[in-house]
Amino acid sequence: MNKASKLRSLPAVDELVNGDTLQEIVAQFPRPQVVGWARAAIDAARAKLLAEEACSPDQIVATVRALAAAERGRSINRVINATGVLLHTNLGRAPLADRAIERIEQATKYSNVELDLNNGKRSKRGERAAQLIAGLAGAEDAIVVNNCAAATMLVLSGIAGIDVRNAPPVLAGGLQPAGKEVIVSRGQLVEIGGGFRLPDVFRAAGVVLREVGTTNRTHLRDYETAIGEHTGAILRVHRSNFFQGGFVTEPSIDEMVAIKRPKDVPVIDDLGSGCFYDLSEFGLREPVVVESVKCGADLSLFSGDKLFGGPQCGMIVGRKNWIQKLRTHPMMRAMRVDKVTLAALEATAEIHLSGTAFEEIPVLQMIAKKASDIQAACHAFVKRVGSVAATLNVVPSESQVGGGSIPGATMPSFAVEVSGCKTQHVAQSLRTGTPAVQSRLTSDNLLLDLRSVDSADHDLLAHRLTESLQDAQQ
Ligand SMILES: *Cc1c(COP(=O)(O)O)cnc(C)c1O
Repeated sequence: MNKASKLRSLPAVDELVNGDTLQEIVAQFPRPQVVGWARAAIDAARAKLLAEEACSPDQIVATVRALAAAERGRSINRVINATGVLLHTNLGRAPLADRAIERIEQATKYSNVELDLNNGKRSKRGERAAQLIAGLAGAEDAIVVNNCAAATMLVLSGIAGIDVRNAPPVLAGGLQPAGKEVIVSRGQLVEIGGGFRLPDVFRAAGVVLREVGTTNRTHLRDYETAIGEHTGAILRVHRSNFFQGGFVTEPSIDEMVAIKRPKDVPVIDDLGSGCFYDLSEFGLREPVVVESVKCGADLSLFSGDKLFGGPQCGMIVGRKNWIQKLRTHPMMRAMRVDKVTLAALEATAEIHLSGTAFEEIPVLQMIAKKASDIQAACHAFVKRVGSVAATLNVVPSESQVGGGSIPGATMPSFAVEVSGCKTQHVAQSLRTGTPAVQSRLTSDNLLLDLRSVDSADHDLLAHRLTESLQDAQQ
């Protein structure tokens, strides 16, 4: 065939999309997307033909399949987390407890998110969840927002920002009316990640940052001498994604609470990880929410999807007067959580209240796993994989909590080490199959750390590994 007739033989877009070869893809994706991929594949084929390169009809179909596969890899799907990082932000942080998942199922269609079924009257969204959280924390009151970053923003704005209802209007290009000062140690001016840097957050909240102390040492007297007529609050931020060692000091939360200050200057404790238990028996140290409240912090903030083991949300617990002030702040309406989140949160809080958190909440179950049990599970796992063209060994590993909590702390664990094969290919195949598997790939081997894998998924993971090893051989 000459070039002109080859070009004429290219399929039309509709013809390709309606043809037998793409029906599986048409059934899975919105038609306009498939049409777009078909057009791109035909254009690429035309370009090849014009450049006198070979291009078969099969290649056009293969291009559409590849584009569809790439789209599948970007759509949100279940992933088996074999990284050993329990709270992996890329993998959605805390896996939810079964009870929370069941409750989500209840809430997804119509649900009584703002309706009291007892009297048929309108109820306050999130009130029950807030009561459960306040009860757990031993606090007077609580409020739930979209994440802990939102909690920080709301607290700064609501406590020390401008009085939005009475402030003078801002003129374009004119000076912003300033809020009050919030005192924070220079050692705690953190970047949480994703561009969320405290000095910027202060500015965005309309609050004046009053930094005290030095990077490594901040003393009580630094806070005390900074308190003045413009002080709106004192903030402590837990260093949850880095650590300091050596010549360092900073006051504890109970010392900070004891600082002499006007009645309207609260101490705010940004705890981050939302730990409710002493985890020292597992070699982990993290501030406990109940302790922060008990020490007298006026407001304590934490995430829902870190060590609390619930859905993404941020919780603020503390004194009634401050919480009430936040509840009526206009920003609150923009930060309120969805019914699905509230359903999962209620269920997770109930589990904590029932005292069954270490049996029911996945992240806590994983923290409590004994290394020897993980080792035994790894050996059983290797047996299930059967005969493959690779070497599988059970090796010691180190799991991390991750997700911006307990930086640097690791838990002894065990992993299945895969070597003697094309590990990059195996990792790719694991990731792109169903269900997807995220492994830990190092320069010379591939590890599957079973601490972060639910034992109910071991069979499935063994199957996926067998499949991926075969796949990588081809
Ligand atoms: C993780 C963390 C946050 C942010 O929490 P998100 O729920 O991810 O928004 C804020 N402060 C501290 C101290 C944290 O550890």
